Amino acid sequence: MKQRFRRIVIKIGTSTLTAGTTQINMPRIVSIAQQFMSLLDSGAKLVFVSSGAIAVGREALGNPDLPKSIPGKQMLAAVGQPRLMNVYGQVFGIYGITVAQVLLTNEDISDRKRYLNARNTIESLLMQNVLPIINENDTVATEEIRIGDNDNLSALVANLIEADMLILLTDQDGLFTTDPRKSDNAQLIEEIKGEEITEVIWFGAGMAKGELGTGGMATKLQAAEIARHSGATVVIANGSEPNVINRIVDGENVGTRIHPTVDSMESRKRFMLAGAAKDSWISIDQGAAKAFKKGGSLLPIGITGVHGQFERGDIVWVKNKDGRDCAAGMVDYSFEEINKIKGKKSTEIEKVLGYAYGDEIIHHNNMTVLGSEA
Ligand code: GLU
Repeated sequence: MKQRFRRIVIKIGTSTLTAGTTQINMPRIVSIAQQFMSLLDSGAKLVFVSSGAIAVGREALGNPDLPKSIPGKQMLAAVGQPRLMNVYGQVFGIYGITVAQVLLTNEDISDRKRYLNARNTIESLLMQNVLPIINENDTVATEEIRIGDNDNLSALVANLIEADMLILLTDQDGLFTTDPRKSDNAQLIEEIKGEEITEVIWFGAGMAKGELGTGGMATKLQAAEIARHSGATVVIANGSEPNVINRIVDGENVGTRIHPTVDSMESRKRFMLAGAAKDSWISIDQGAAKAFKKGGSLLPIGITGVHGQFERGDIVWVKNKDGRDCAAGMVDYSFEEINKIKGKKSTEIEKVLGYAYGDEIIHHNNMTVLGSEA
């Protein structure tokens, strides 16, 4: 049966957005907006990772040479990013799509608390049917904290929102057995299945396995490797192909399709179970345990006790009234906060704490419920 993809991250590189020129190509932007519209109409949730800030900044300043220094590039990104968003706001608006800008650095994704903030913001946008448009926060991302390229950023975002598909659009038809610009014998790799991406494939992408990619296909393959281990199907394809996004989602053979090594549920489960601290747990009553089974979140009212020391964003165990582990999940509130609000209604959180991060102590999307033990 054909798989229906529900949560899709689409990363589009500068070369696709400019159609290889020095300025944004409006027909391309219109085509992207149209394709997004039809996917959104079908009920899919989309996140768009867009490059192009530096290119638009350059265009705005009359195409100076690309500065080599980081501050030079940051300056161009600062000029270009709002202009790029303005184009998206206008064009996507014609198709009824409201856009939002989300700029991320490595720290926003690697630090647990900030991870949770980024994730909650993106989830809230998706819930409102707003299209998050993500780019690296180039103006503050210095060398040490840079992700460095939007391929890897898009893989981290796919992981963050548990995407089931990541599409990387570029100016080549996909991954080849060797560089097609240098060899006539280069053949398109249509599919990669199985656990290992082989040495031959890494080599074809331009680097040996384990080396750090510096852009191009190698970086895309690196990104694919991250995303497929968190349960996403990854497709690398040519952004100049007509209707390419919809065709990929429909399962047509375009570009290189890299299959996931785990499904996203399984990946989330592993992540939660591996990350849960042994000595921190929340005890819940029977009503809360039953609610989990039906897809409910953990609310303060169902909490009878809290044990250990943990922060907002940590993963903790949830124990049922018999003291058995029945779930593990990422908490939206710290140990101290939960101690104050346990047993209370969610509407009282703000009154007790003076602020609230939301109604849930652990959102259902951030937890894994264990078998029949609840
Ligand atoms: N963040 C850069 C920009 O918007 C692009 C980085 C990349 O494409 O990998 O210009």
